[in-house]
Amino acid sequence: MDNPEKMEKVVNLAKQRGFIFPSSDIYGGLSAAYDYGPLGVELKNNIKKAWWKMFVNTRMDMVGLDAAIIMHPKVWESSGHLDNFSDPLVECKKCHKRFRHDHLLEGSSLSPKHDKAKPVDSDKIVCPDCSGELTGVKQFNMMFKTFMGPVEESANVVYLRPETAGGIFVNFKNVQESQRLRLPFGIAQIGKAFRNEITTENFIFRTREFEQMEIEYFINPKDWEKYFDEWLKLMREWAEFLGLDKKDLVEEEIPEKDRAFYSKRTIDFEYKFPFGQKELWGLAYRTDYDLSQHQKHSKQDLTYRDPITNEKYLPHVIEPSLGVDRSFLAVMLAAYTEIEGGRSTTTKAIKDKEVVLKLPYALAPIKIAVLPLSKKEPLANLSRDILMKLKQNFVCVYDETQAIGKRYRRQDEIGTPYCVTIDFDSLEDKQVTIRDRDTMEQDRIAIDELDKYFENKLG
Ligand code: ATP
Repeated sequence: MDNPEKMEKVVNLAKQRGFIFPSSDIYGGLSAAYDYGPLGVELKNNIKKAWWKMFVNTRMDMVGLDAAIIMHPKVWESSGHLDNFSDPLVECKKCHKRFRHDHLLEGSSLSPKHDKAKPVDSDKIVCPDCSGELTGVKQFNMMFKTFMGPVEESANVVYLRPETAGGIFVNFKNVQESQRLRLPFGIAQIGKAFRNEITTENFIFRTREFEQMEIEYFINPKDWEKYFDEWLKLMREWAEFLGLDKKDLVEEEIPEKDRAFYSKRTIDFEYKFPFGQKELWGLAYRTDYDLSQHQKHSKQDLTYRDPITNEKYLPHVIEPSLGVDRSFLAVMLAAYTEIEGGRSTTTKAIKDKEVVLKLPYALAPIKIAVLPLSKKEPLANLSRDILMKLKQNFVCVYDETQAIGKRYRRQDEIGTPYCVTIDFDSLEDKQVTIRDRDTMEQDRIAIDELDKYFENKLG
């Protein structure tokens, strides 16, 4: 990332323009919890809708699922989360702040970033806040615990899912049999996940409640390399669709010693965020670890018999795992553009810095802004008619206050691809002016043709 102050600018824009607010803001906010505002929810939904369309609706070999967040505790016992889903915790003996030990090592360049199992040499690092001495490392389980039903006793303990994948694995047989699916096929799911992270950081990058978009692609193990490569390619295409610059993306091949013991290959997609190069998404070949664990603990047969070859085996999986919120952040950072001196060529325009959020059109929260040149009738009436018609097919806003140049800039800042300006000539010639966010070119279009025009441009 070329601009280190970009993060602060994007965070400010996100709050001021209604993309993301601190959660419980009027009570001072809750640490690392965020609410997606009117524009944020549109952008986030557009990311999820586009992912679902690309990976579920337009494919022959994919289906969707929406499993419960609270599942049987045995799910997490079988998957190993109850025993192993922990991060290394250290505490400062002086200020009592807690940190993730691997992050401290990484920050002091004492450890390669993926080597979580590396022997600990705590003496070499001190508290980054007060330089106090740190305690030894304890493993801290990140599962959020709660109780099911009115009695708070150990028999009623349940967990909020730490990833969406668990719901997919335990439904493998239900989905495969009900949909009569033949391998290879995949199950996709979008939903909330919860991790009691030791430290949260960098806005929506690491929070305790977040959303994931995950796929388990079930395969015959003999084909794993082919399908791994296919998913790798698809993830690159997805990154391109989101408008992420190739030079800001790094595919980090995780060496064997740093992979989960069951994974034969893992690639982390890392993004060059303004606060450092960090994991955006992951792609892993998880072998048959998950199904075999669930088969063992549930005592249910989860094997698959190929109807043509009659071969019977436990399917293996390729898992593309994506965070929605981290995608959102990367999309905002990639789209955020500042133009020194402004773009406007009219002499009256204020020649200061202009901000354009160059979101891919499919992701833009608002597609069209309807801007009458006057608030008064009969222009207002005509403009509202146009707005209500366009609203049937596109997310639109109406803005009638201040000079037109200012209104254009307000829309540029939130990434609106098109502005429709209604002027006094529109009353006579039944035409309006359409301005394109990126080229600033203007088209004069008949009001009756607007739907068709936008269908072509945005459809
Ligand atoms: P990290 O190393 O950053 O903690 P991870 O390797 O534990 O991430 P995974 O378990 O692979 O993450 O989760 C899959 C995806 O879910 C991540 O690539 C990321 O996009 C997202 N994700 C994971 N943890 C968080 C979190 N605390 N906040 C927001 N997104 C998250």
